[in-house]
Amino acid sequence: MNTIFQDLLSLIGDPERVIRDEEIEESYLSDTLGRLKGKAQALIFVLSTREVSQVMRYAWERGIAVTPRGAGTNLVGSTVPLKGGIILDFSRMNHILEIDEDTLTATVEPGVVLQDFQQHVESLGLFYPPDPGEKTATIGGNIATNAGGMRAVKYGVTRDYVRGLEVVLPDGRITTMGSKNVKDASGLQIRQLIIGSEGTLCVITKCILKLIPRPETSLSVLVPYRDLHSAIRSVHAIIRANANPTAVEFVERSVVELGESFTGLKFPCPEAKAYILLTFDGTAGQVEANAERVRQVADSTGSLDFIRLSDPAMAADIWKVRGCLVKAVEAVSEQEPVDLVVPISRSAQFVSFVHEVEAQTGMQMVAFGHAGDGNVHLCIVRGSRDDATWEKELSAVMHTLYDRAHELGGLTSGEHGIGIAKRPYFLKNTSDVNLEMMRAIKDAMDPKHILNDHISYLK
Ligand SMILES: Cc1cc2nc3c(=O)[nH]c(=O)nc-3n(C[C@H](O)[C@H](O)[C@H](O)COP(=O)(O)OP(=O)(O)OC[C@H]3O[C@@H](n4cnc5c(N)ncnc54)[C@H](O)[C@@H]3O)c2cc1C
Repeated sequence: MNTIFQDLLSLIGDPERVIRDEEIEESYLSDTLGRLKGKAQALIFVLSTREVSQVMRYAWERGIAVTPRGAGTNLVGSTVPLKGGIILDFSRMNHILEIDEDTLTATVEPGVVLQDFQQHVESLGLFYPPDPGEKTATIGGNIATNAGGMRAVKYGVTRDYVRGLEVVLPDGRITTMGSKNVKDASGLQIRQLIIGSEGTLCVITKCILKLIPRPETSLSVLVPYRDLHSAIRSVHAIIRANANPTAVEFVERSVVELGESFTGLKFPCPEAKAYILLTFDGTAGQVEANAERVRQVADSTGSLDFIRLSDPAMAADIWKVRGCLVKAVEAVSEQEPVDLVVPISRSAQFVSFVHEVEAQTGMQMVAFGHAGDGNVHLCIVRGSRDDATWEKELSAVMHTLYDRAHELGGLTSGEHGIGIAKRPYFLKNTSDVNLEMMRAIKDAMDPKHILNDHISYLK
């Protein structure tokens, strides 16, 4: 008999929102890639902080594992309940509770979908800058992973927009941290520890987010280059030129072709070997002045063209091709995503290294990414390899890539997190002292290790 399910059903009292083990859909037992599957005795669609607190207290008293879940779009296995227990799904705690125009803040429940939130605030003349590629993700998931995205180069990442949190601790206690205040030097910033902690320390139940006025206008520009090196090198010059781009992405021609066949859309200048795709936002005058600065950089760095995407439909098509790349690769083969980050001065060197490894190993690697912040995205393509070959070759190639990235001063993850998938590379390249401190924090906040303990670098 499934007593956890029975107990939770009595606690919550709504059979439509408490699902028993054998009735849980498979997608809730995994992440967006669906390679690794866990199990759970119960899935609960929570509606309030009070319910979350009741469930956590129940789990705490019995030492039952709990996995919080937003939209499940993570790429690193962080929502795979390998320890069984309870899945806490936040998709129905999805209300925008307040837009406070006087303090330029929004207060939202964690299950609010990013895209809905962005559209809502923009309809009010406001703007929420964090813009990770997957718009169906939730705000709670974005905070738990410190999601980045295309606009990080100008506006920063999710962390920079979280003013306050309400959380439920593993033992069920409810507390708040931070506030609508702009500044905060009031003791240790526990909120900052929770942002990016992948649900390992506590459960987020309410979020106070910083907003800014919506930029008046924006313009995207596509700059094609004869080779990848010139393209990536131009990024440094663009940033030095103080052109303040909102997004600076690089993508190779061969990768664009995958996106083209996935979407049926076409990039201009097909003779290019690589492109830099930029956006500028602000007043019309600022946008024009910044675009002109980049046009001068493009001229001086040997670009093949400077294509203003003034037609919104054309701009949308180009961004659609850029935005679909992970899905375009997935459509042709299983792939392993990598989101390591290197200092921006080392991006070109790292991508060259990727090409060398590709040539040596015969393993296809699709590289693209946020050139403005050194966040290189790779899809390591499985092709027709059988399970044993894929496992062996993938492990070897991943170690080679991560080792090189770390030698260049890089880090394991720029925005996707560690989860289960990146554990070996993170452990290998994180100092014992830092791991000790991280584990001490986990022990202090979740001494029974009931929250997301499958993310096991904290043990
Ligand atoms: C096509 C594609 C493109 C992507 N592009 C980007 C990108 O550009 N930038 C980027 O950063 N990421 C990107 N991602 C990854 C993913 O969308 C982000 O990690 C996102 O922030 C996850 O949000 P989610 O709601 O889906 O969270 P989930 O996947 O459900 O959960 C992620 C983690 O957060 C925890 N969590 C969720 N909700 C809570 C809560 N309320 N309290 C405590 N912990 C919680 C979970 O336990 C888990 O550890 C992309 C993914 C895909 C599929």
